[in-house]
Amino acid sequence: MLTKYMKPFAGLFLCLITGTGVFAQTGRFQQAVDYQMEVSMDVKTNRYTGTQVLTYTNNSPDTLNRVFYHLYYNAFQPGSMMDVRSRTIADPDRRVGDRISLLTPEEIGYLHVKSLTKDGKAVKFNEEETILVVDLDQPILPNSKATFKMAFEGQVPVQIRRSGRDSEEGVRYSMSQWYPKMANYDEQGWHANPYIGREFYGIWGDFDVKITIDKTYTIGGTGYLQNPNEIGHGYEDAGVKVPQPKGNTLTWHFKAPMVHDFMWGADPKYQHDKVQMDNGITVHHFFIPGENTSENWEKLKEYTPKAIEYMSKNFGQYPYKQFSVVQGGDGGMEYAMSTLITGERSLGSLVGVMVHELAHSWYHGVLASNESLYPWMDEGFTSYATNLTMGEIFREGVENVHAGSYRGYISLAKSGLEEPMSTHSDHYHTNRAYGSAAYSKGAVFMEQLGYVIGKEVRDRGLLRYFNTWKFKHPNANDLIRIMEKESGIELDWYKEYFVYTTKTIDYAIGPVEARGDQTAVTFQRIGLMPMPLDIVVTYKDGAQEQIYMPLVIMRGEKANEEGMPKRVYTEDWPWVNLEKTIVLDRKLEDIQSIEIDPSKRMADVMPENNKVEF
Ligand SMILES: [Zn+2]
Repeated sequence: MLTKYMKPFAGLFLCLITGTGVFAQTGRFQQAVDYQMEVSMDVKTNRYTGTQVLTYTNNSPDTLNRVFYHLYYNAFQPGSMMDVRSRTIADPDRRVGDRISLLTPEEIGYLHVKSLTKDGKAVKFNEEETILVVDLDQPILPNSKATFKMAFEGQVPVQIRRSGRDSEEGVRYSMSQWYPKMANYDEQGWHANPYIGREFYGIWGDFDVKITIDKTYTIGGTGYLQNPNEIGHGYEDAGVKVPQPKGNTLTWHFKAPMVHDFMWGADPKYQHDKVQMDNGITVHHFFIPGENTSENWEKLKEYTPKAIEYMSKNFGQYPYKQFSVVQGGDGGMEYAMSTLITGERSLGSLVGVMVHELAHSWYHGVLASNESLYPWMDEGFTSYATNLTMGEIFREGVENVHAGSYRGYISLAKSGLEEPMSTHSDHYHTNRAYGSAAYSKGAVFMEQLGYVIGKEVRDRGLLRYFNTWKFKHPNANDLIRIMEKESGIELDWYKEYFVYTTKTIDYAIGPVEARGDQTAVTFQRIGLMPMPLDIVVTYKDGAQEQIYMPLVIMRGEKANEEGMPKRVYTEDWPWVNLEKTIVLDRKLEDIQSIEIDPSKRMADVMPENNKVEF
């Protein structure tokens, strides 16, 4: 069904997506890929065979004697690193637990490369579980291209985590991480991490994918369908009569420009709904109709376009012409131009997971920081964007949309389990430490940054960050430099403390003493992380004054923010001082209250000592 979604937003153009290998402003480089794949799925055995032609461009200054491919499906086998890790981590993920260890030969996943050539000559390759190691007799020289041709075969594992077949909700195929995928090589070298169920990092390029499958199946996922009027299944143009296919299969031809992954979901029961937005973007929904889905997925057709509009306005223009929400997987997971989410949810949960996975299009899809090294720059900023978008389109009237993220972080900080956000996502000791750091503390990082440099400056900085670093894999320093340039404030200390350490923030109001007609108020830094302070003094006559104490090391001040009283005292706080006393020009008995950070954006782990009332 095609519905029209009204309410255009002004000035929206689909940006031209271009990839340049080397970017002058940084001296950095990035590799490029171009995949052509043909794959054929046997829906009885759940096995597939495929061919892949990969044109690889080495934009690095280095000569590459080896390359690595990910073979993710080999993780779904008893005894794999993912199996061992999932069973032995202190707080196992319920979705995985010991399930991999119990898979039978028909239920496991595998992905094997049968043959591989580079530039027409066979190369030596060795499968090391989820990584294929390829030794090159003829290296790939700097600034040159190589063409790899391979044949591969796979078996789709029973749905355990993210990808798989026959999910609990009855979706036949959630095809993510399904093809041999070149590992990324960047200024920090190779990133051939064995897959243990966490994060991803890919290379941008153009994908041309042909999928042959039983003709009753509907496919949704990454990429623009090239032959909609031959395929039908809801893709055909209005009024077109789709010819009956000869034989039992159809070959679906997709193209996806400038993406770093390719996902597809397939099921014979999918209902396919299309919503055409006025800005040229088509939203596709694929779900299995039923009592627990149909009503809410019908309502979702209103929310997905609204979310795309809001996010494009606030976080940067969505650069593709299509977004597909596909029922599948085991929760929600982001992919290029698409997401796999479980579908039998309450409306709030369905909208929430769609919004979260859609928000990943900005931080995972288009900025695409190395998620293994900087999971907080993806999950955290995605959670931040989700909080705001949900507050706008679904949870109107909620006072503090980020409250849950603050609670999650502060609870972790007090638990004794916290590890620095700079921890590689595979190597956190517990799932909780990873989850609360990446999602909650990452979101707090961004909202609290608004406290440090001002909300409006942070908002502008976030757009500038997107527009400067889209399709370039920014790291933590790239983000902080943008925010420094936008604010004129030095922020290295903020990144160092909040990302690389587990030091916490705790400021307090100490003694308040009468000094004749004046009042001396002492503020204390108890926590090890220094922060600037916004303090509001409220007098019994209703007047309010602000004390602003930026840190000396900021070498600047934020502008006074909307809704804050006039700054009567501005004084730098050298972070080495544990105390600072301010003398107010009014009597103690005039004062009603003194409060540190009434906006509550500073993640003070002990907010109880932030306010005194008289
Ligand atoms: Zn996420």
